[in-house]
Amino acid sequence: MPIAENVSAIYQQIRNAAASVGKDPETITLCAATKMNTAEKVRQAIAAGITCCGENRVQELTEKLAQNAYDGATVHFIGHLQTNKVRQVVGKVDLIQSVDSVHLLETIHKEAVRQGLIQNILLEINIAGESSKSGFSIEQLYSLLPEIANYPHIHVLGLMTIPPICHNSGENDKFFQEMYNLSVDITAKKYDNVEVRFLSMGMSDDFADAIRLGSNMVRIGTAIFGARDYSKSNQK
Ligand SMILES: *Cc1c(COP(=O)(O)O)cnc(C)c1O
Repeated sequence: MPIAENVSAIYQQIRNAAASVGKDPETITLCAATKMNTAEKVRQAIAAGITCCGENRVQELTEKLAQNAYDGATVHFIGHLQTNKVRQVVGKVDLIQSVDSVHLLETIHKEAVRQGLIQNILLEINIAGESSKSGFSIEQLYSLLPEIANYPHIHVLGLMTIPPICHNSGENDKFFQEMYNLSVDITAKKYDNVEVRFLSMGMSDDFADAIRLGSNMVRIGTAIFGARDYSKSNQK
């Protein structure tokens, strides 16, 4: 299906999921996961109503920024970020969703100080405790949160998670629920420099479940752009 039809179908599904739990659909951000798609496809998605793009790899981000591919949308970084590439991302994106270690957080902070700006970030939580994934455990999160006040050049705007691959609807519900409970608890505890504005969870196969359970930011690639072609790449 063409990108424009996919985008309107997804917005409709977002409205339905929000309505099913009495939530205002306007509070939910659809972030298009643009990895491995061309600047032209990204432009088509923005023309079809996408207002937020999420990029995974620094090289693709840099290329598409140079091509003005994201014009008309905000840009988020959503992939694993190596500390030696932080300089190419800080100040270039509206939100780094995938801050998954204290070392990365410190490196982002240092670069934000250097550039004289405040970088918005989300903390990535490894909610299923998968060894294949990065991200903070719940224990690590709670020990970090009181320290966030010491990093005035970053601003924490919430949490992000990538739960296990979902094969059937409902499979990740317990993880979405845990993330939601975590966001409520952190909000109640009022940590300095931490504002839980975004709970980023839900992808092509499970975004409706995620919204029902409290997500207000879904990151969707395949359902917008079609299956990615991995044959020309070593990416996962
Ligand atoms: C690719 C990607 C997505 C989107 O995945 P789809 O299953 O294609 O919708 C979401 N979040 C992150 C971090 C991704 O890398």
